[in-house]
Amino acid sequence: MANKQEFAENLGNTTKSAMSCPHCKEFVPCPVMKSEGVQRIIDYPDIVFRRRIRACSVCRTPFATAEGKLGLIDEITNNRELIAQLKKELASKTRSLQRVLRKLQGVLIYEERERDDPT
Ligand SMILES: [Zn+2]
Repeated sequence: MANKQEFAENLGNTTKSAMSCPHCKEFVPCPVMKSEGVQRIIDYPDIVFRRRIRACSVCRTPFATAEGKLGLIDEITNNRELIAQLKKELASKTRSLQRVLRKLQGVLIYEERERDDPT
């Protein structure tokens, strides 16, 4: 957590805010090289974020950030967990249906034999 002086300095110069570089992992100022303004997703008008290209002041590698509402991260996390649970349930139901299908195929084979060779 930044102290008050660092926080005030960051407020005064938000484009040089320190952050962890995704490449070299250093926590250093990563100035904005390009700001692409507010982005919207047509099908989801409630999702609004700002995309920026920054460069690490140590390794100089550029990387993109997306700044938006924190609630969106919570929603993505919750949806990821929900999808994992739904995949498990789907796999379980698929196995059940495959067992039923094999039984039905056995009944059909038996009925075909009875029809073809009624003794
Ligand atoms: Zn770096």
